[in-house]
Amino acid sequence: MSDPAPSKPRSHGRKSISASAHPQDLMPPAERRPGAWTAKIITLLPGSFPGVLGESLTGRALKDGLWHLETIDLRLYGEGRHRNVDDTPAGGGAGMVLRPDVMGRAIDAAQAGTPTGWPIVYLSPRGRPFDQATAQRFSEAPGVTFVCGRFEGLDERVIDHYGIEEVSLGDFVLTGGEIAAQAMIDAAVRLRPGVLGNEASTQDESFSRGLLEHPQYTRPAEWRGHAIPPVLLSGHHGEIARWRRRMAEEITRVRRPDLWADHLERRDGGDENGD
Ligand code: SAH
Repeated sequence: MSDPAPSKPRSHGRKSISASAHPQDLMPPAERRPGAWTAKIITLLPGSFPGVLGESLTGRALKDGLWHLETIDLRLYGEGRHRNVDDTPAGGGAGMVLRPDVMGRAIDAAQAGTPTGWPIVYLSPRGRPFDQATAQRFSEAPGVTFVCGRFEGLDERVIDHYGIEEVSLGDFVLTGGEIAAQAMIDAAVRLRPGVLGNEASTQDESFSRGLLEHPQYTRPAEWRGHAIPPVLLSGHHGEIARWRRRMAEEITRVRRPDLWADHLERRDGGDENGD
């Protein structure tokens, strides 16, 4: 709006705009499996994806088409010649706020053609803290659209208009939502079938049964005078399972009284399969 009138018509200067032109080019051509879980990310920094998600197990799964990543460059939906995406806060104060009209266009582009039950998530320190249950829910949706904020954040009307779910990575403030989005996508993708080599491992690990995981050891059997707990070398599967269970309970009780209280309530209070 504040742009001076351009001396010549520039509208054709907006090259062909596709929702994911730039970042898709960075991605190796993945086999597109129809219906594979998809993360759509609205961001001013599309070059920051796939980032660490392109490595190791999540990266392998991405290349194999077990999931897809689509970035939507918010800048392409900006206003005017400079494609402005932000403006000063109504009521005054420091910083800049992402404009609702710009973000609305990007969200409309992201959501076009998505099936129902496709959540829109705004990464936000004001959101509900992310946890394993949320990762599980995201992984069971057909896909998730992540809105990465920058500056002071997003105009509240966008959140209200689309009924966007706000989710926080934790009680600290990041400069943008991209790292938080990568963390959440990692946690969701590894729950998708076929992503981890050993699917049993997601059932035992921290949080999945409301307990933190037991300690892990590997060779050598003795390291700098420290031995592996003998029970783990006993070959007695029943005793090993009991030891692990006891350690998981002890670690949870000491480190996370909040999880421990929930665990006791579930165990003592209900019809839960309390093994
Ligand atoms: N003024 C905001 C913080 C803005 S930080 C406030 O005080 O609440 C800029 C952007 O970083 C946010 O819009 C959000 O998308 C992202 N962000 C910052 N901290 C985050 C966190 N803990 N979890 C998820 N996203 C976060």
